[in-house]
Amino acid sequence: MTISIPFDNTYARLPEAFHRRTPPTPVGAPKLIALNRSLAAELGLDPEALSGAEAAQAFAGNAGFAGSEPIATAYAGHQFGQFVPQLGDGRAILLGEVVDAGGVRRDIQLKGAGPTPFSRRGDGRAALGPVLREYLISEAMAALGVPTTRALAATTTGEQIYRETALPGAVLTRVASSHIRVGTFQYFAARRDMPALKALVDHVVDRHYPEAAGRLDRALALLERVVSRQAALVAQWMHLGFVHGVMNTDNCSIAGETIDYGPCAFIDVYDPKAVFSSIDRHGRYALGNQPAITHWNLTRLAECLLPLLAEDENVAISQASEALDQFAPQFEAAYIGGYRLKLGLVTGRDEDFTLIQGLLDQMEAGKADYTLTFRRLGAFAEHAPDAGVRELFEDPSLFDGWGERYLGRLARDPEGEQGRRRRMDRANPAIIPRNHYVEAMIAAAVESDFAPFEAFAAALSSPYDREAEATIYAAPPPRATEPYRTF
Ligand code: AMP
Ligand code: MG
Ligand code: MG
Repeated sequence: MTISIPFDNTYARLPEAFHRRTPPTPVGAPKLIALNRSLAAELGLDPEALSGAEAAQAFAGNAGFAGSEPIATAYAGHQFGQFVPQLGDGRAILLGEVVDAGGVRRDIQLKGAGPTPFSRRGDGRAALGPVLREYLISEAMAALGVPTTRALAATTTGEQIYRETALPGAVLTRVASSHIRVGTFQYFAARRDMPALKALVDHVVDRHYPEAAGRLDRALALLERVVSRQAALVAQWMHLGFVHGVMNTDNCSIAGETIDYGPCAFIDVYDPKAVFSSIDRHGRYALGNQPAITHWNLTRLAECLLPLLAEDENVAISQASEALDQFAPQFEAAYIGGYRLKLGLVTGRDEDFTLIQGLLDQMEAGKADYTLTFRRLGAFAEHAPDAGVRELFEDPSLFDGWGERYLGRLARDPEGEQGRRRRMDRANPAIIPRNHYVEAMIAAAVESDFAPFEAFAAALSSPYDREAEATIYAAPPPRATEPYRTF
């Protein structure tokens, strides 16, 4: 018997150039190790039906879900600035789309389910560590309130895969508003396939930006909207100290979700130059570069759309430039707005940007833990003598001058006094997926101990709660550990 999911596969119905029909490749001994019951329910699926042995077979790619039309999607992309005209899903297979309980269409995809026509020299597989990393971090991002792909399930395959050493294989079931990227547009633009490009614009507008469906200049409306969503998204990453790590254009979602959790990591001590990926040797994707890189990626999208803008090329270029010029003000507004929330301010003053930058500068100089500094500012704002903020700085006096300025600013925000602490706690997580706990969770899972994964995932589902402060996950790593590297 196959498990039935009410798929409605609009992407599979797009022209042949968009994808390759590709079934998953069966594996030796599938075992379900994680099922996201609340996400299943959100998708209108029965968590019970998804938790048995049959489901493990289906989530590992051994059995089909009735109604799925598995495809690998085509896309291109700039990888570290170099254009690659064909990438595509080399180890991901889109099973299909479901319309969720809220009426939103969502992709269900298997990642690590075997080779596809786009695999090049890759094996189409994923290792258990990265699968659990993506599961845990993407779900944490969702709980933190950041638009993101989600994790519905994880299975082990019972097979080993070979990277530098032999590793247990796994398959992640990923859910996204769609898996369409800037690189999808680049794929067709590079081939000058205008009918496909137009079909893609129509698909994306109908699916993600239906309010723009009636506009004659759909391509421009689309660009403006992607600019807005990406500006808001990267501002949220900055607020959390999240380093995506591989912001290639093929990892830049048209729906504005965080996608592709490879070498990503959260900072502990504040450092705008933070880079965790060992392949990012020049710091292209460092924490502080992320807004500029997002703009760079959006510029690549605009180039693809130029032929669909005004007929006169000069007019088209100025339309695209104007849309791209909206990035900076939108990012800045989201950036300042989010930091005002983190500081408990409800009014806005011109001095706020320097106030925020001043704190970040002192945190950098004092190697202060980013997440804890903001979390503890809630108590500091209430004049709690044991707020514990200044101790987070190597030289605690680095905080004091700024702390005075901040209390002065709070005094000029009397409107914000009511409920300030509660609002600050909602804006400053007590816990994030800290690297040292992520690594410990993976090390245990590789030895078949999934308890640390389960406990960590459970804690991360309520990162803003007071109770989270008391968990082990609130603790920063011991000082002077080796610089963290994701790969
Ligand atoms: P990423 O860096 O994860 O965004 O992947 C970049 C490209 O490499 C995409 O086209 C992936 O599908 C492909 N890729 C990554 N890992 C593998 C693998 N193990 N087998 C086949 N293709 C892969
Ligand atoms: Mg096809
Ligand atoms: Mg990718």
